[in-house]
Amino acid sequence: MARVLVTGGSGYIAGFTIRQLIAEGWDVNTTVRSLTRESEVRDWLAVDNARLRFFAADLTSDPGWAEAVDGCTHVAHIASPIPPGAPRHEDELIVPARDGALRALRFAKAAGVQRFVMTSSVAAIAYGHHSSRTEFTEADWSNLESPRTYAYPKSKTIAERAAREWMEAEGQGMAFVTVNPAAVLGPVLGRDFSPSIEAVKKLLEGAMPGVPDLGFGIVDVRDVADLHVRCLTADDVADERFIASGPFLKLIDIAHILRDRLGPEARKVPTRRLPDFMVRILGRFIPELGQVASELGRVKVSTAAHARDVLGWEPRPVEETIVDTARSLIDQGIVNV
Ligand code: NAP
Repeated sequence: MARVLVTGGSGYIAGFTIRQLIAEGWDVNTTVRSLTRESEVRDWLAVDNARLRFFAADLTSDPGWAEAVDGCTHVAHIASPIPPGAPRHEDELIVPARDGALRALRFAKAAGVQRFVMTSSVAAIAYGHHSSRTEFTEADWSNLESPRTYAYPKSKTIAERAAREWMEAEGQGMAFVTVNPAAVLGPVLGRDFSPSIEAVKKLLEGAMPGVPDLGFGIVDVRDVADLHVRCLTADDVADERFIASGPFLKLIDIAHILRDRLGPEARKVPTRRLPDFMVRILGRFIPELGQVASELGRVKVSTAAHARDVLGWEPRPVEETIVDTARSLIDQGIVNV
């Protein structure tokens, strides 16, 4: 197997991708913003340390990138800011997402990389469309003109578009493909987990008086890692986009699965719907709720049929993902049930 650069080794999806790559015989370079995190990340990855090298590199500046990608034939560019709440200004997300992708592409091309897989998102596909639209495919792009497209979906849309434009102009000889995951859940490796886990954490903690009428496609982190590895290795995937998603569930459905499957450990999980007007009022005080209030009541099904048909990718049952998310949060003492 060859050597692959996985950017953002401290991240949730990157961690599972690194694990799978090393298990399949790859040597892996990874970037972190600061090497002070190396030993902590090695601890939670628990892989063959001899196969994994760390490099310090930030999405917003050049130092470290040439060294990180040197000797790599493949790149999985996964790092991108995904904030726990609303940023003060959208450029806090857009600039590192876009410029980081372009920077990683430039250094990859200069190093002779053959294939570049970028982690985009369903957020680059299914936002800002008319509320009557409920089904989305890889042919769709989020609408940047809509006021409902908030900072994070903007950052993912702008970054993927910029990467594709750069590839068309300058990327000859390097294959480019994106993985576009829905909301990623699954077991956490440690306390530094992705913000996408927050919804399950808040339900288990009974942090809200009821459940907002919000929903999303759900996909398991282990299946997202597997789709990245397939994209790194499959034939004839240049320029493709692959949605990674299981079924669309409302938070209330997740709450019921937790109640049914965890028994007394799910005793704090609310099962009453929070009226939309109350969510909007709460959203004035809780920015992360405020920014998604425009998504109340929406149903958005992003089909992963393309990944199934072309790559033979098969996500696991969503109940397993939800229960494993909760189990790992409880077992690691991250939530107090
Ligand atoms: P995560 O655990 O928060 O990982 C994000 C990674 O990006 C971290 O390693 C973080 O480093 C790194 N990063 C952020 N800003 C950076 C910067 N300026 N310079 C260098 N590294 C930076 O989140 P994740 O869920 O694994 O997300 C990984 C990718 O998947 C992102 O591209 C995200 O948009 C995409 N995605 C996630 C979901 C989801 O539901 N989680 C869904 C669709 C797509 P630090 O540890 O130093 O902060």
